[in-house]
Amino acid sequence: MAAKRVYFFGEGKAEGHGQMKDILGGKGAGLAEMTKLGVPVPPGFTITTEVCTEYYDNNQKYPKDLKKQVDTAMAKVEKIMGAKFGDPENPLLVSVRSGARASMPGMMDTVLNLGLNDVTVKALIAKTNNPRFAYDSYRRFVQMYGDVVLDLKPVDKHDEDPFEVILENKKKKYGVSLDTELTAEHLIELIEEFKAAIKEKTGKNFPTDPMEQLWGAIGAVFGSWMNERAIVYRKLNNIPAEWGTAVNVQSMVFGNMGDDSGTGVAFTRDPASGENIFYGEYLFNAQGEDVVAGIRTPHPIAELKKDDPVIYKELDGYRTLLEKHYTDMLDIEFTIQQKKLWMLQCRVGKRTGFAAIRMAVDMVKEKLISKEEAISRINPEQLNQLLRPIFDGAEKQKTISEGKFLAKGLNAGPGAASGKVALNAQDAVEMAAKGDKVILVRIETSPEDIKGMNSSEGILTARGGMTSHAALVARQMGKVCVAGCGALKINYKEKSFTVEGKAIVIKEGDYISIDGSTGEVLAGKLETKPSEVIQVLISKTLKPSQSNVYQTYASLMGWADKLRTMNVRTNADQPDQSANAIAFGAEGIGLCRTEHMFFGGDRITSVRKMIVSDSVEERKAALDELLPLQREDFEGIFTVMGERPVTIRTLDPPLHEFLPHSDKEIEELASELKITGKKLKEKIESLHEFNPMLGFRGCRLGVAFPEITEMQARAIIEAAVNVARKGVKVKPEIMIPLVSHVNEFKLQEDIVRRVAKEVMKEKGKKIKYLVGTMIELPRAAITANEIAEHAEFFSFGTNDLTQTTFGLSRDDAGKFLPEYVNREILPNDPFESIDQNGVGQLVEMGTKRGRSVRKNLKVGICGEHGGEPSSVEFCHRTGLNYVSCSPFRVPIARLAAASAVVNEMKTKKKNKSKHKKKKASKKK
Ligand code: ADP
Ligand code: MG
Ligand code: MG
Repeated sequence: MAAKRVYFFGEGKAEGHGQMKDILGGKGAGLAEMTKLGVPVPPGFTITTEVCTEYYDNNQKYPKDLKKQVDTAMAKVEKIMGAKFGDPENPLLVSVRSGARASMPGMMDTVLNLGLNDVTVKALIAKTNNPRFAYDSYRRFVQMYGDVVLDLKPVDKHDEDPFEVILENKKKKYGVSLDTELTAEHLIELIEEFKAAIKEKTGKNFPTDPMEQLWGAIGAVFGSWMNERAIVYRKLNNIPAEWGTAVNVQSMVFGNMGDDSGTGVAFTRDPASGENIFYGEYLFNAQGEDVVAGIRTPHPIAELKKDDPVIYKELDGYRTLLEKHYTDMLDIEFTIQQKKLWMLQCRVGKRTGFAAIRMAVDMVKEKLISKEEAISRINPEQLNQLLRPIFDGAEKQKTISEGKFLAKGLNAGPGAASGKVALNAQDAVEMAAKGDKVILVRIETSPEDIKGMNSSEGILTARGGMTSHAALVARQMGKVCVAGCGALKINYKEKSFTVEGKAIVIKEGDYISIDGSTGEVLAGKLETKPSEVIQVLISKTLKPSQSNVYQTYASLMGWADKLRTMNVRTNADQPDQSANAIAFGAEGIGLCRTEHMFFGGDRITSVRKMIVSDSVEERKAALDELLPLQREDFEGIFTVMGERPVTIRTLDPPLHEFLPHSDKEIEELASELKITGKKLKEKIESLHEFNPMLGFRGCRLGVAFPEITEMQARAIIEAAVNVARKGVKVKPEIMIPLVSHVNEFKLQEDIVRRVAKEVMKEKGKKIKYLVGTMIELPRAAITANEIAEHAEFFSFGTNDLTQTTFGLSRDDAGKFLPEYVNREILPNDPFESIDQNGVGQLVEMGTKRGRSVRKNLKVGICGEHGGEPSSVEFCHRTGLNYVSCSPFRVPIARLAAASAVVNEMKTKKKNKSKHKKKKASKKK
């Protein structure tokens, strides 16, 4: 049997369904599902994504049987509609719509009213008795077809759309300002001029044969899959090129048939705040993209309740029905044709992180979804949006009273941002590359602006609503956005903008501030202040009961903590950092870097003395100065951390990092040490290394200078005993860095245990402690079973392990690594997200080998990866006991650890049902 390439939907029946996004694309799957639910959807059919893939694999040729399948499906649509595609008397008109698996806003273009020509337009007039409508549809068709299929759309940002120019001139000529004011006669002129423009630019006549039009449009949809905008978008969103797009051919319904017709888009909840209210916009006597294009300002959906209560009620009913069915917030499109409502699209709606979290928590409380589902719906990174700064209210008021308030637009993407104005995407990219914070200001954005939007802190547009391109994309990227700020008069040529009714001129490079939660735009650079969650948890200036945002956060994190099996610790080396981390939910310290303490106060002098000393005695004397200081630091940390485990790493970095570099500093140190500057310089030079990253560092220091390890062990154990005396069950874990051979570890372990014994004897108090190691060299991972004979815990230092596994230094990688990621030589920056197939294999092997000799070996990870969601999930799968990350990423790691559990449950379920199916088919 021939492969099924075309899926029909219409009149309550559909060959596909909502779960078939892979094959039908998101739009096609949604249309099929809505049809099946009994929602009124104009009939049509979907050409599968597989055809797109085949088309590209086959030198851009269609599979042989495609035409036949399209004809068959078209016949079904014709039967329902009682009209025939291309028929001169009774023509069926269709739209050709693209739709990939993942929605790609604005990437692919739709052609409406296809099938019109000079003959069929007459039939449309006869049928509707409405020439203005028929010619309006026709001129839109010629324009869209010219733009999308015949490539007349401008590529350069300075070029103008030729059709828009003709349209503007026509409006000027007849002294009207709105498209809707043009009469049928004006529109006939327009159509002729459009066609002439096409002929002039392409040398070809506008195709009059509907079949030719149809296949031209289908080809254009497939073609757009490989256009540059689509490729950029896919790259930014990790969408593989092999997925392909589907094509939907659907019979037309008309929102431009007069004032009892209209079109709109809506979200079933507020996509910016997450609030459970019906949220959207519509326009009467309009078609397709008019609402989002920002040509006329649309009405908020709440007004439809007054304008047409019957339609509103029906629409609101579908809102409830669809939300219940999909158990998620949806983004819907509808058209009203002469008081009859049609649904044209539904898909799970894009939302801010802020909204995602609120909706997920609300839906659990509404019993729409489970807690597990709520967790799996939130990308842990989105928590950042709850933690993101807001403007300080007082500071904002002050700015406003200084007359710096510029205008107010729509609050399309929450958060606060200030930065330098960039008036086009390219400038935004360049300014950001120089390290400037940028606010991209555009009349409206389009897909070619995506790179610039990505480089900006915030986006401000003059036109377009809450569902405009700028708003959609900003919300998805998690950017601050104020859209549709109509008072802005932007002049691209002069590279500046003014504000209606104000004298001020803002030039590119000037600072502005935008508040995406209120829509306010202000001149100048406004300071931001911490989010509500931070105010509750960290600065404690807000009570939990005063903040809804905090309460939502707390519910979610509570559920995550119940689910997750992996612990989350933090990397901290100061008491205040540790306290913050606990507020964020840290359950211990996974990495306390002792050397960070060496820079505080005038300690550095003692450290420098220790380094440049020539004899053991001198070194010991310097270390004696450091001992009480380090002890004090550890006491502070143990006191804050209480009974939570605290992993302290002994000295790790190469010594020259602590030495002075400028002549002045060197002279100062020399006089302090009572030696000559020359001698000190020689000493410093002797410590120079060609490759410090692979040089004299880590446990190698402690092996060469055991007295350093001795001092540190003493400081840790003395501090632990002192704090334990106050009744706290401290849990110190002493960690030896950069071990490659078990013998190095043994030497260091001996020192630690000997000193610990001495201290406990001196103080007359025993405490429990562990001695373990970092696994950050491939040799350590390979010989983990030898090391685990002695080490009581492992902590994978995945920063160094990544460097040493790849054989590259992170400090030098900036020259080529970004290029590697750009060209997809590497899928990700391995310092951001753990390289699961390489470095990850060493982690897995090290864990297995270690536990083969010590069953209960405690294993964690303390590199930057510990707070990156996909790496956290990897750690969970590998059976690690904990991840450790910086304090502000602790909530993200907690949520990621929980969603790893949810994903695991989902995979198990899938495998089970696969297994069952296999069994069942065997029985047959
Ligand atoms: P996008 O993927 O950019 O959302 P769509 O395919 O949804 O593009 O179409 C663009 C606009 O045209 C939408 O407003 C949609 O509702 C409208 N539209 C598409 N097909 C039809 C149709 N058959 N009848 C009426 N309007 C349509
Ligand atoms: Mg759409
Ligand atoms: Mg290291």
